[in-house]
Order: sequence, then C-alpha cells, then structure tokens
Amino acid sequence: MYTSVDQFMETVINKNPAEEEFHQAVKEVVESIWDYLEDNPHYLHHKILDRIVEPERVIMFRVPWRDDQGNVNVNRGFRVEFNSAIGPYKGGLRFHPSVDLGILKFLGFEQIFKNSLTTLPMGGGKGGSDFDPKGKSDNEIMSFCQSFMSELFRHIGPNTDVPAGDIGVGGREIGFMFGQYKRLCNEFAGVLTGKGLNWGGSLIRPEATGYGAVYFAKEMLNENGDNFKGKTVAISGSGNVAQFATEKVIQLGGKVVTLSDSTGTIYDADGIDGEKLQFIMDLKNKKRGRIKEYADKYGCEYWSDKRPWGAKCDVAIPCATQNEINGDEAKHLVKNGCLCVVEGANMPTEPEAVEVFLEKGVLFGPGKAANAGGVAVSGLEMSQNSMRLNWSREEVDEKLKDIMKNIHSQCVKYGKSGDSVNYVKGANIAGFIKVADSMLDQGVV
Ligand code: NDP
Repeated sequence: MYTSVDQFMETVINKNPAEEEFHQAVKEVVESIWDYLEDNPHYLHHKILDRIVEPERVIMFRVPWRDDQGNVNVNRGFRVEFNSAIGPYKGGLRFHPSVDLGILKFLGFEQIFKNSLTTLPMGGGKGGSDFDPKGKSDNEIMSFCQSFMSELFRHIGPNTDVPAGDIGVGGREIGFMFGQYKRLCNEFAGVLTGKGLNWGGSLIRPEATGYGAVYFAKEMLNENGDNFKGKTVAISGSGNVAQFATEKVIQLGGKVVTLSDSTGTIYDADGIDGEKLQFIMDLKNKKRGRIKEYADKYGCEYWSDKRPWGAKCDVAIPCATQNEINGDEAKHLVKNGCLCVVEGANMPTEPEAVEVFLEKGVLFGPGKAANAGGVAVSGLEMSQNSMRLNWSREEVDEKLKDIMKNIHSQCVKYGKSGDSVNYVKGANIAGFIKVADSMLDQGVV
C-alpha cells in the first residue's frame, strides 16, 4: 500500500513516461484527496488509485484524408475510454496539432471527476486528433471528419461512449461526424452531443460551458457576500467557452476587458459590449479570423504574442487551453487586485500559479467544477434524445444553474476549512467518492 503521494506518483510516472500533463492532473487530484484516503484506507486497500489512473481502454487509429489539391494526408486519431463506473464514457473530441496521448489522458482523467460532480450518470472519456483545422476549407474539414468517424463509429454508441466537442471541434465538425456515423450505422442515435437544434441538439448546449463557469463564479462571489456588478473581468481565448463567458459576465453587470487567441490579446478598457461580442462571434465562428482584427476595428490595444494576465482585473476567467497562467502571471494578477480566478478551460493554471492563488486567499475555482456546465448540458441533451423530446431554453438554463449551484455546494461541503473554501480539494474529494464507491460496488473490474 502506498504511504505517500510521491511514492504513488513515482509509479504513475514510470508507467506513463513522457505524459507530463497527465502526471500533472493525477498529482493535483491525489495530493488533494490524500488526507481523505488516509482517513478511509479501504480505497487504498482495494487499489482504487491504481485502477482509476489506468484507462479502461485506449483506441489509437490512422486517419487518412484528401485535401483540396488531391494530396493524401495522414493524422492520428484517439479515443481514451477512461472510466465507466457511473455511466457511458463521455467527453469531448479535440482537434489541435498539440494533441497526443498524454494530453488526452489528462483530459480524460479530469473528465471522470467532472462528470461525477454534475450528478448525472456519465463516465469519463476524451478523444481527438493532431489534425489542425486552422486554414482548412469546409470541404477539407468534412473529408477529415468523415475519415475520423469511419474508424471511431465502431467504438461508440448512445449507451457506450458519447463524444462531444472541445478545442477545434464545434457545431460544424459535430455535424460532419454525426452524418458519417448515421451513414455507417444506419441509425439515428444520440451518439454525439453538441448537435444542431434540427437534429437532436439541446438549447443552451453552445452556451453551457461559458455560462456555467460564470454561474459558478457567481456562487463563489456570493459565498463571500459579493457579486459581478461593476467587476472588471479578464478572459482568455475567443472560442466557444470565452464567447459565452463574456456574454454572461456582461448580463450580470461585469465589464470584460480582454480576449485572446494563440497570436495575442486585445485589451479594450471601455469593455466589450453586446455589439462588439457579436463582431467577435462572426469573426471567430464564420470568418475564422484572428483576434487582432478586433483591435483594428475598434482601435483598442493589441498585445502581440501576449496573454491577458497583465491586465488589471477583479476576476480572471482563463478559457483558452491548459497551462496558460504561470506562477509569475499569477503573482501579477494578485498584485493587481484580482480576487477570483475561475477556470473555464481545462487545467489552464500551472501548479505554481494555483499555489500562489491559494496562499494569497484568491478564490480559485478549478476547471473540473467550474467548467462542468458543458458536459452537464451534454448529459441533458442525452436525456432529451432518450425521451425523444426537447426542453425549452428556460428549462435547460434553470437545470444548468441548479447543477452549477449543486457542484458549488459539494465543493464547499468537502473543501471548507474555517472561513475559507479550498475548491480544488472540495471538487476532487466529492468527484472521487462517487466514482470510487461505484467501482467498489462493481467488484474488481
Ligand atoms: P475553441 O476551439 O472554441 O477555442 C479555443 C480558444 O483558445 C481559441 O481562441 C484558441 O485560439 C485558443 N487556444 C487554443 N489553443 C491555444 C494555445 N495553445 N495557446 C493559446 N491559445 C490557444 O475551444 P473551446 O472554447 O471549446 O475550449 C476552450 C477550453 O475550454 C479548452 O481547455 C477546453 O478543453 C475547455 N472546455 C471546453 C468545453 C466545451 O464545451 N467546449 C467544455 C469544458 C471545457 P486559436 O484560434 O488561435 O487557436
């Protein structure tokens, strides 16, 4: 039996060399639940830790496709079916050149606890490809998606594994993949979430991750007798999560001053209003342009190759990608008066930065709690598909609010110590207990 986190981590690192992001994600969870495990040693006796870090299944496959010039290209596809103790595998597909097994194992591992926190019956999984959608025509995207699904279809199903979107996979890609699945299986099934509204999608699914992160931040602020009114907010990214986080912050009376993409950050001291946000949505979702065009149009500052964390803000919501706030940036945010950091993205905060926030008493909402709204509404999309009916926008939004509130309460229950709440600890313990107990119930499988 392991006697320390370091001893356990040594085994994980030796077994999974060169998967740094996976090590990082596992260490964060194990460190924060270790005291709980020592108080409840039956989990260690039954080797739950060893089992939970080993995916139930990993599928890796060739994805050949033809570009518009007729050339053959080859990418690598993956699906990590991590844990099905509490429901079918569920988690997004990411298309980005940085995708490899370590990245998808980190995301799949996080997904197990996140899905558990939602209270819905969903296991953890993640998948994707090192395919780069940037600069590709619609035809090339379709060609790739069809080839990707031509292998993936045999491993997924409405009661087995239900993928969704993530970085580089939005409504367009889900549509192409759904079409190919239907063609291959001759079955109209709820096998993907994030579908179009005409063919089985749920209202509020596109908004859910960004809205949910802001609902979670609102709960954290409320817990401290505060709210979003008049708060200055720095957001990173300008994709799905960032866009709808921005929309919800504006609705709650906050002022969003930054957005970014992989080439730089825009800083708009006047705040991004509804009309400017619409410009960004058109720019990113239709024209697929660069964020710099916003600065050119509205005459605000553009910080080339820089992230938003130099901006003065009360609340920071990182919504781009993993490891996008380092220790120095965290210190800078604290120095500038930032009082709350909420992860819209998955693991955007490096461990040194998390330490800075916790030490300095900044309210810190980890992604597996704060961005669970996306997968929660995916779960609601699955329910609607199974019942063959659609809920209204208001119904889904209410359910999303309730779920985020409930996740917040679970974090408080397991993370409160004295007057403060350690949300990392709270989220990890609450997420772990349900999955671990289910694994124990189901025997050695
Ligand atoms: P999108 O592809 O819609 O947007 C991603 C944004 O992040 C883009 O602005 C992109 O800029 C930027 N970005 C991506 N990679 C990098 C990088 N390496 N460096 C700097 N910027 C980068 O993705 P989503 O909005 O869906 O996802 C954002 C984050 O939220 C991810 O961490 C994802 O895992 C997480 N998440 C998403 C959910 C969802 O429902 N979509 C659910 C839960 C979490 P550029 O265009 O220049 O690449």
